[in-house]
Amino acid sequence: MKIIVIGSGIVGSSTAYHLAKKGAEVFLVDRLHDGQATAAGAGIVCPWISSVNNKDWYTLANAGACYYPKLVSQLKEDGESNIGYGLVGALAVSNDDEELNVIEQTARTRQLETPEVGEVRRLSGREARELFPPLNEDLKAVYVSGAARVDGRLLRDALKRGAEKHGAQLYTGLASLEIVNEKVTGVHVNGEVLSADAVVLTAGAWISEMLEPYGIGLQVEPQRGQIVHLKLPDQDTSNWPVILPQSSHYLVSFEDSRIVVGATRESGSGFDYRVTAAGVKEVIEEALFVAPGLSNSTLHEVRVGFRPISADILPLLGHIPAVNGLIIANGLGASGLTMGPFVGNLAAKLALNEKLELDITPYYPLRHSQNLKHC
Ligand code: FAD
Repeated sequence: MKIIVIGSGIVGSSTAYHLAKKGAEVFLVDRLHDGQATAAGAGIVCPWISSVNNKDWYTLANAGACYYPKLVSQLKEDGESNIGYGLVGALAVSNDDEELNVIEQTARTRQLETPEVGEVRRLSGREARELFPPLNEDLKAVYVSGAARVDGRLLRDALKRGAEKHGAQLYTGLASLEIVNEKVTGVHVNGEVLSADAVVLTAGAWISEMLEPYGIGLQVEPQRGQIVHLKLPDQDTSNWPVILPQSSHYLVSFEDSRIVVGATRESGSGFDYRVTAAGVKEVIEEALFVAPGLSNSTLHEVRVGFRPISADILPLLGHIPAVNGLIIANGLGASGLTMGPFVGNLAAKLALNEKLELDITPYYPLRHSQNLKHC
Protein backbone atom coordinates (compact mmCIF):
# COMPACT_ATOMS: atom_id res chain seq x y z
CA MET A 1 0.00 0.00 0.00
CA LYS A 2 1.35 3.43 -0.97
CA ILE A 3 0.76 6.21 1.54
CA ILE A 4 1.78 9.88 1.50
CA VAL A 5 2.17 11.79 4.76
CA ILE A 6 2.09 15.59 4.47
CA GLY A 7 3.95 17.37 7.26
CA SER A 8 6.96 16.05 9.13
CA GLY A 9 6.50 17.50 12.59
CA ILE A 10 6.14 15.06 15.47
CA VAL A 11 2.81 13.68 14.22
CA GLY A 12 3.83 13.16 10.60
CA SER A 13 7.26 11.73 11.46
CA SER A 14 5.66 9.26 13.85
CA THR A 15 3.00 8.32 11.29
CA ALA A 16 5.64 7.73 8.62
CA TYR A 17 7.82 5.71 11.02
CA HIS A 18 4.99 3.39 12.07
CA LEU A 19 3.76 2.97 8.50
CA ALA A 20 7.22 2.19 7.16
CA LYS A 21 7.89 -0.30 9.95
CA LYS A 22 4.76 -2.16 8.89
CA GLY A 23 5.99 -2.40 5.34
CA ALA A 24 3.91 0.31 3.66
CA GLU A 25 5.43 2.30 0.81
CA VAL A 26 5.74 5.73 2.43
CA PHE A 27 6.44 9.24 1.17
CA LEU A 28 6.87 11.98 3.77
CA VAL A 29 6.61 15.52 2.37
CA ASP A 30 7.39 18.78 4.16
CA ARG A 31 7.55 22.39 3.01
CA LEU A 32 9.80 23.33 6.01
CA HIS A 33 7.60 26.28 7.01
CA ASP A 34 9.05 28.70 9.56
CA GLY A 35 7.46 28.05 12.94
CA GLN A 36 7.02 24.28 12.93
CA ALA A 37 5.57 23.63 16.40
CA THR A 38 7.67 20.52 16.96
CA ALA A 39 10.89 22.47 16.48
CA ALA A 40 9.88 25.03 19.11
CA GLY A 41 8.06 22.87 21.66
CA ALA A 42 9.30 22.77 25.24
CA GLY A 43 8.88 19.03 25.54
CA ILE A 44 7.03 18.45 28.81
CA VAL A 45 5.48 14.99 28.99
CA CYS A 46 3.37 14.97 32.16
CA PRO A 47 -0.42 14.93 31.74
CA TRP A 48 -1.03 13.64 35.26
CA ILE A 49 -1.07 16.92 37.12
CA SER A 50 -2.62 18.95 34.36
CA SER A 51 -5.61 21.11 35.28
CA VAL A 52 -7.26 20.41 31.92
CA ASN A 53 -10.63 18.97 32.85
CA ASN A 54 -11.62 16.97 29.79
CA LYS A 55 -11.77 13.17 29.83
CA ASP A 56 -11.18 12.73 26.09
CA TRP A 57 -8.14 15.01 26.21
CA TYR A 58 -6.77 13.07 29.19
CA THR A 59 -7.31 9.71 27.47
CA LEU A 60 -5.02 10.69 24.59
CA ALA A 61 -2.51 12.59 26.72
CA ASN A 62 -2.19 9.71 29.18
CA ALA A 63 -1.88 7.15 26.38
CA GLY A 64 0.70 9.40 24.72
CA ALA A 65 2.86 9.71 27.83
CA CYS A 66 2.63 5.96 28.51
CA TYR A 67 3.60 5.15 24.91
CA TYR A 68 7.01 6.87 25.11
CA PRO A 69 9.08 4.08 26.70
CA LYS A 70 7.84 1.62 24.07
CA LEU A 71 8.64 4.02 21.24
CA VAL A 72 12.07 4.79 22.64
CA SER A 73 12.93 1.09 22.80
CA GLN A 74 11.68 0.57 19.22
CA LEU A 75 13.86 3.43 18.01
CA LYS A 76 16.85 2.02 19.91
CA GLU A 77 16.29 -1.33 18.20
CA ASP A 78 16.44 0.62 14.94
CA GLY A 79 19.86 1.96 15.95
CA GLU A 80 18.75 5.40 17.13
CA SER A 81 20.51 6.62 20.26
CA ASN A 82 20.05 10.42 20.12
CA ILE A 83 16.32 10.58 20.87
CA GLY A 84 16.18 13.45 23.39
CA TYR A 85 13.84 11.70 25.84
CA GLY A 86 14.59 11.78 29.57
CA LEU A 87 12.55 10.48 32.50
CA VAL A 88 13.55 13.35 34.80
CA GLY A 89 10.41 13.82 36.93
CA ALA A 90 8.51 17.06 37.55
CA LEU A 91 7.96 19.47 40.40
CA ALA A 92 4.60 21.21 40.55
CA VAL A 93 5.53 24.30 42.57
CA SER A 94 3.52 26.79 44.60
CA ASN A 95 3.67 28.79 47.83
CA ASP A 96 0.06 27.78 48.56
CA ASP A 97 -0.33 24.52 50.52
CA GLU A 98 -3.98 24.15 49.53
CA GLU A 99 -3.06 24.36 45.85
CA LEU A 100 -0.41 21.69 46.34
CA ASN A 101 -2.91 19.49 48.22
CA VAL A 102 -5.20 19.48 45.17
CA ILE A 103 -2.31 18.69 42.81
CA GLU A 104 -1.08 15.89 45.06
CA GLN A 105 -4.58 14.41 45.26
CA THR A 106 -4.99 14.57 41.46
CA ALA A 107 -1.66 12.80 40.93
CA ARG A 108 -2.43 10.12 43.53
CA THR A 109 -5.87 9.43 42.00
CA ARG A 110 -4.37 9.06 38.52
CA GLN A 111 -1.53 6.94 39.89
CA LEU A 112 -4.09 4.31 40.97
CA GLU A 113 -4.97 3.61 37.32
CA THR A 114 -1.63 4.48 35.77
CA PRO A 115 1.52 3.15 37.40
CA GLU A 116 3.59 5.21 34.94
CA VAL A 117 2.81 8.27 37.12
CA GLY A 118 5.50 6.85 39.40
CA GLU A 119 6.23 8.15 42.86
CA VAL A 120 4.21 11.13 44.18
CA ARG A 121 5.80 13.03 47.08
CA ARG A 122 5.48 16.38 48.88
CA LEU A 123 8.73 18.38 49.11
CA SER A 124 9.71 21.30 51.30
CA GLY A 125 11.29 24.33 49.64
CA ARG A 126 14.75 23.09 50.62
CA GLU A 127 14.12 19.60 49.21
CA ALA A 128 12.78 21.11 45.99
CA ARG A 129 15.89 23.28 45.60
CA GLU A 130 18.11 20.23 46.02
CA LEU A 131 16.55 18.94 42.80
CA PHE A 132 16.38 22.33 41.03
CA PRO A 133 18.89 24.74 42.63
CA PRO A 134 17.76 28.06 40.99
CA LEU A 135 14.22 27.72 42.45
CA ASN A 136 12.54 30.53 44.45
CA GLU A 137 12.95 29.87 48.21
CA ASP A 138 9.25 30.46 48.88
CA LEU A 139 8.09 27.62 46.63
CA LYS A 140 7.25 24.14 47.86
CA ALA A 141 6.48 21.24 45.57
CA VAL A 142 4.73 18.03 44.63
CA TYR A 143 7.21 15.68 42.97
CA VAL A 144 6.02 13.24 40.28
CA SER A 145 8.76 10.83 39.24
CA GLY A 146 7.12 9.53 36.02
CA ALA A 147 7.21 12.91 34.25
CA ALA A 148 9.56 13.24 31.31
CA ARG A 149 10.89 15.78 28.87
CA VAL A 150 11.68 15.36 25.21
CA ASP A 151 13.63 17.40 22.69
CA GLY A 152 11.11 17.63 19.83
CA ARG A 153 13.77 18.19 17.17
CA LEU A 154 15.84 15.19 18.20
CA LEU A 155 12.84 12.87 18.45
CA ARG A 156 11.41 14.09 15.12
CA ASP A 157 14.73 13.48 13.40
CA ALA A 158 15.15 10.04 14.99
CA LEU A 159 11.66 9.09 13.74
CA LYS A 160 12.46 10.36 10.24
CA ARG A 161 15.74 8.45 10.12
CA GLY A 162 13.93 5.38 11.48
CA ALA A 163 11.28 5.73 8.77
CA GLU A 164 13.97 6.01 6.10
CA LYS A 165 15.70 2.88 7.42
CA HIS A 166 12.42 1.05 6.82
CA GLY A 167 12.20 2.39 3.28
CA ALA A 168 10.30 5.69 3.57
CA GLN A 169 11.24 8.45 1.10
CA LEU A 170 11.49 12.07 2.25
CA TYR A 171 10.56 15.01 -0.01
CA THR A 172 10.98 18.73 0.54
CA GLY A 173 8.27 20.86 -1.06
CA LEU A 174 4.81 22.35 -0.75
CA ALA A 175 2.21 19.60 -1.15
CA SER A 176 -1.37 19.94 -2.34
CA LEU A 177 -3.96 17.23 -2.70
CA GLU A 178 -5.19 15.57 -5.84
CA ILE A 179 -8.81 14.57 -5.37
CA VAL A 180 -10.68 12.78 -8.16
CA ASN A 181 -14.28 11.57 -7.86
CA GLU A 182 -14.36 12.01 -4.09
CA LYS A 183 -11.16 10.00 -3.61
CA VAL A 184 -7.69 11.28 -2.85
CA THR A 185 -5.47 9.87 -5.55
CA GLY A 186 -2.19 11.56 -4.69
CA VAL A 187 -0.30 14.73 -3.99
CA HIS A 188 1.18 17.52 -6.13
CA VAL A 189 4.69 18.43 -5.05
CA ASN A 190 7.49 20.22 -6.91
CA GLY A 191 5.60 19.98 -10.21
CA GLU A 192 5.18 16.21 -9.89
CA VAL A 193 2.16 14.15 -8.98
CA LEU A 194 2.89 11.37 -6.50
CA SER A 195 0.10 8.84 -6.56
CA ALA A 196 -1.14 7.16 -3.40
CA ASP A 197 -3.77 4.83 -2.00
CA ALA A 198 -4.17 7.08 1.04
CA VAL A 199 -2.92 10.46 2.27
CA VAL A 200 -2.39 11.36 5.93
CA LEU A 201 -2.52 15.10 6.57
CA THR A 202 -0.28 16.07 9.47
CA ALA A 203 0.29 19.65 8.36
CA GLY A 204 -0.03 21.24 11.81
CA ALA A 205 -1.34 24.80 11.97
CA TRP A 206 -1.27 25.06 8.14
CA ILE A 207 -3.96 22.43 7.61
CA SER A 208 -6.97 24.73 7.29
CA GLU A 209 -5.45 26.67 4.40
CA MET A 210 -4.56 23.40 2.68
CA LEU A 211 -8.14 22.11 2.79
CA GLU A 212 -9.93 25.36 2.03
CA PRO A 213 -9.67 25.00 -1.77
CA TYR A 214 -11.66 21.76 -1.48
CA GLY A 215 -14.44 23.33 0.58
CA ILE A 216 -13.40 21.48 3.73
CA GLY A 217 -13.68 23.89 6.61
CA LEU A 218 -11.47 22.40 9.30
CA GLN A 219 -11.21 24.52 12.44
CA VAL A 220 -7.53 24.71 13.33
CA GLU A 221 -5.82 28.02 14.12
CA PRO A 222 -2.14 28.87 14.65
CA GLN A 223 -1.31 30.01 18.18
CA ARG A 224 2.14 31.58 18.44
CA GLY A 225 4.43 30.44 21.22
CA GLN A 226 7.67 32.28 21.99
CA ILE A 227 10.07 30.30 24.12
CA VAL A 228 13.49 31.22 25.52
CA HIS A 229 16.56 29.00 25.86
CA LEU A 230 18.89 29.92 28.71
CA LYS A 231 22.29 28.44 29.48
CA LEU A 232 23.83 28.01 32.90
CA PRO A 233 27.53 27.58 32.08
CA ASP A 234 29.27 24.69 33.83
CA GLN A 235 26.09 23.31 35.41
CA ASP A 236 25.00 19.75 34.72
CA THR A 237 21.27 20.30 34.12
CA SER A 238 20.69 17.01 32.31
CA ASN A 239 18.66 15.42 35.12
CA TRP A 240 16.95 18.44 36.61
CA PRO A 241 13.18 17.96 36.87
CA VAL A 242 10.60 19.88 34.85
CA ILE A 243 9.25 22.84 36.86
CA LEU A 244 5.52 23.46 36.64
CA PRO A 245 4.28 26.62 38.36
CA GLN A 246 0.51 27.16 38.60
CA SER A 247 0.28 29.14 35.36
CA SER A 248 0.81 28.33 31.69
CA HIS A 249 4.56 28.89 32.19
CA TYR A 250 7.25 26.29 32.94
CA LEU A 251 10.97 25.50 32.96
CA VAL A 252 12.44 22.44 31.25
CA SER A 253 16.10 21.43 31.53
CA PHE A 254 18.16 19.53 29.00
CA GLU A 255 21.72 18.31 28.60
CA ASP A 256 24.21 20.99 27.52
CA SER A 257 23.45 23.27 30.53
CA ARG A 258 20.25 24.43 28.81
CA ILE A 259 17.04 25.50 30.51
CA VAL A 260 14.05 26.21 28.30
CA VAL A 261 11.54 28.66 29.74
CA GLY A 262 8.21 29.34 28.21
CA ALA A 263 6.03 30.13 26.71
CA THR A 264 3.64 32.71 25.33
CA ARG A 265 0.22 31.55 24.13
CA GLU A 266 -0.77 34.10 21.52
CA SER A 267 -4.12 33.23 20.02
CA GLY A 268 -5.02 35.21 16.90
CA SER A 269 -1.31 35.59 16.03
CA GLY A 270 -1.70 34.21 12.51
CA PHE A 271 1.62 33.08 11.04
CA ASP A 272 3.54 36.11 12.32
CA TYR A 273 6.96 34.50 12.79
CA ARG A 274 8.61 37.13 14.94
CA VAL A 275 10.20 37.39 18.35
CA THR A 276 8.55 40.32 20.12
CA ALA A 277 9.76 42.47 23.03
CA ALA A 278 6.56 41.79 25.00
CA GLY A 279 6.77 38.05 24.37
CA VAL A 280 10.33 37.75 25.67
CA LYS A 281 9.56 40.04 28.64
CA GLU A 282 6.57 37.91 29.67
CA VAL A 283 8.51 34.66 29.53
CA ILE A 284 11.68 35.92 31.25
CA GLU A 285 9.79 37.73 34.01
CA GLU A 286 7.83 34.62 34.95
CA ALA A 287 10.91 32.40 34.76
CA LEU A 288 12.96 34.67 37.02
CA PHE A 289 10.13 34.90 39.55
CA VAL A 290 9.95 31.09 39.73
CA ALA A 291 13.71 30.59 39.55
CA PRO A 292 15.65 33.74 40.58
CA GLY A 293 18.82 31.67 40.41
CA LEU A 294 18.63 31.97 36.62
CA SER A 295 19.16 35.76 36.61
CA ASN A 296 22.77 35.43 35.56
CA SER A 297 22.15 32.74 32.94
CA THR A 298 22.99 33.39 29.30
CA LEU A 299 20.11 34.20 26.95
CA HIS A 300 21.05 31.66 24.32
CA GLU A 301 18.16 31.56 21.85
CA VAL A 302 14.50 32.42 21.35
CA ARG A 303 12.30 30.06 19.31
CA VAL A 304 8.89 30.69 17.79
CA GLY A 305 6.35 28.00 16.91
CA PHE A 306 2.72 27.84 15.85
CA ARG A 307 0.65 25.41 17.93
CA PRO A 308 -2.18 23.87 15.88
CA ILE A 309 -5.18 24.75 18.06
CA SER A 310 -8.60 23.19 17.52
CA ALA A 311 -11.84 24.87 18.55
CA ASP A 312 -12.30 22.72 21.66
CA ILE A 313 -8.78 21.62 22.78
CA LEU A 314 -9.32 18.06 21.47
CA PRO A 315 -7.20 16.77 18.57
CA LEU A 316 -8.70 16.05 15.15
CA LEU A 317 -8.17 12.43 14.18
CA GLY A 318 -9.96 10.30 11.63
CA HIS A 319 -11.18 10.03 8.06
CA ILE A 320 -12.92 12.73 6.06
CA PRO A 321 -15.94 10.71 4.91
CA ALA A 322 -16.53 12.65 1.69
CA VAL A 323 -12.95 12.10 0.48
CA ASN A 324 -12.04 8.46 0.36
CA GLY A 325 -8.52 7.75 1.58
CA LEU A 326 -7.95 11.10 3.33
CA ILE A 327 -6.94 10.90 6.99
CA ILE A 328 -6.46 13.84 9.36
CA ALA A 329 -4.17 13.85 12.41
CA ASN A 330 -4.01 17.38 13.76
CA GLY A 331 -5.00 19.98 16.36
CA LEU A 332 -2.77 18.68 19.17
CA GLY A 333 -2.42 22.22 20.49
CA ALA A 334 -0.21 22.65 23.55
CA SER A 335 0.14 18.89 24.14
CA GLY A 336 1.43 17.64 20.82
CA LEU A 337 4.82 16.47 22.02
CA THR A 338 3.01 14.38 24.64
CA MET A 339 0.38 12.93 22.33
CA GLY A 340 2.10 13.17 18.94
CA PRO A 341 4.00 9.86 18.76
CA PHE A 342 0.95 7.89 19.90
CA VAL A 343 -1.43 9.80 17.61
CA GLY A 344 0.97 9.13 14.72
CA ASN A 345 0.74 5.43 15.50
CA LEU A 346 -3.08 5.64 15.45
CA ALA A 347 -3.01 7.56 12.16
CA ALA A 348 -0.80 4.87 10.62
CA LYS A 349 -3.28 2.20 11.70
CA LEU A 350 -6.17 4.21 10.21
CA ALA A 351 -4.33 4.47 6.90
CA LEU A 352 -3.78 0.71 6.88
CA ASN A 353 -7.40 -0.01 7.91
CA GLU A 354 -6.24 -1.70 11.10
CA LYS A 355 -8.35 -1.91 14.23
CA LEU A 356 -7.64 0.82 16.81
CA GLU A 357 -7.30 0.19 20.55
CA LEU A 358 -9.23 3.38 21.25
CA ASP A 359 -12.61 4.86 20.30
CA ILE A 360 -11.71 7.94 18.25
CA THR A 361 -15.29 9.25 17.83
CA PRO A 362 -14.64 12.26 20.15
CA TYR A 363 -11.84 13.37 17.84
CA TYR A 364 -13.87 13.31 14.60
CA PRO A 365 -12.15 16.00 12.48
CA LEU A 366 -15.32 17.64 11.14
CA ARG A 367 -17.15 17.90 14.47
CA HIS A 368 -17.15 21.72 14.30
CA SER A 369 -16.98 22.22 10.58
CA GLN A 370 -19.11 22.85 7.60
CA ASN A 371 -18.72 19.57 5.75
CA LEU A 372 -17.33 19.16 2.27
CA LYS A 373 -19.23 21.25 -0.25
CA HIS A 374 -17.41 20.28 -3.42
CA CYS A 375 -14.03 18.96 -4.49
P1 FAD B 1 4.11 20.77 13.33
O1 FAD B 1 5.20 20.34 14.21
O2 FAD B 1 3.85 22.23 13.23
O3 FAD B 1 4.44 20.19 11.89
C1 FAD B 1 3.64 20.50 10.77
C2 FAD B 1 4.51 20.40 9.53
O4 FAD B 1 3.68 20.44 8.37
C3 FAD B 1 5.49 21.56 9.39
O5 FAD B 1 6.81 21.05 9.34
C4 FAD B 1 5.12 22.22 8.05
O6 FAD B 1 6.24 22.67 7.31
C5 FAD B 1 4.41 21.07 7.33
N1 FAD B 1 3.46 21.53 6.30
C6 FAD B 1 2.36 22.31 6.48
N2 FAD B 1 1.71 22.47 5.30
C7 FAD B 1 2.41 21.78 4.37
C8 FAD B 1 2.23 21.55 2.97
N3 FAD B 1 1.19 22.07 2.28
N4 FAD B 1 3.15 20.80 2.32
C9 FAD B 1 4.20 20.26 2.98
N5 FAD B 1 4.40 20.44 4.33
C10 FAD B 1 3.52 21.18 5.00
N6 FAD B 1 3.59 19.93 23.57
C11 FAD B 1 3.80 19.14 24.65
O7 FAD B 1 3.27 18.03 24.71
N7 FAD B 1 4.60 19.56 25.66
C12 FAD B 1 5.18 20.78 25.65
O8 FAD B 1 5.90 21.12 26.58
C13 FAD B 1 4.95 21.64 24.57
N8 FAD B 1 5.49 22.88 24.54
C14 FAD B 1 5.28 23.69 23.48
C15 FAD B 1 5.87 24.96 23.46
C16 FAD B 1 5.74 25.78 22.35
C17 FAD B 1 6.38 27.14 22.35
C18 FAD B 1 5.00 25.33 21.23
C19 FAD B 1 4.88 26.19 20.01
C20 FAD B 1 4.38 24.08 21.25
C21 FAD B 1 4.50 23.26 22.38
N9 FAD B 1 3.89 21.99 22.46
C22 FAD B 1 4.13 21.18 23.51
C23 FAD B 1 2.96 21.57 21.41
C24 FAD B 1 3.61 20.73 20.34
O9 FAD B 1 4.86 21.26 20.00
C25 FAD B 1 2.70 20.68 19.10
O10 FAD B 1 1.38 20.34 19.43
C26 FAD B 1 3.19 19.63 18.10
O11 FAD B 1 4.56 19.81 17.84
C27 FAD B 1 2.40 19.70 16.81
O12 FAD B 1 2.98 18.79 15.90
P2 FAD B 1 2.45 18.66 14.41
O13 FAD B 1 3.25 17.59 13.79
O14 FAD B 1 0.96 18.53 14.41
O15 FAD B 1 2.73 20.07 13.72
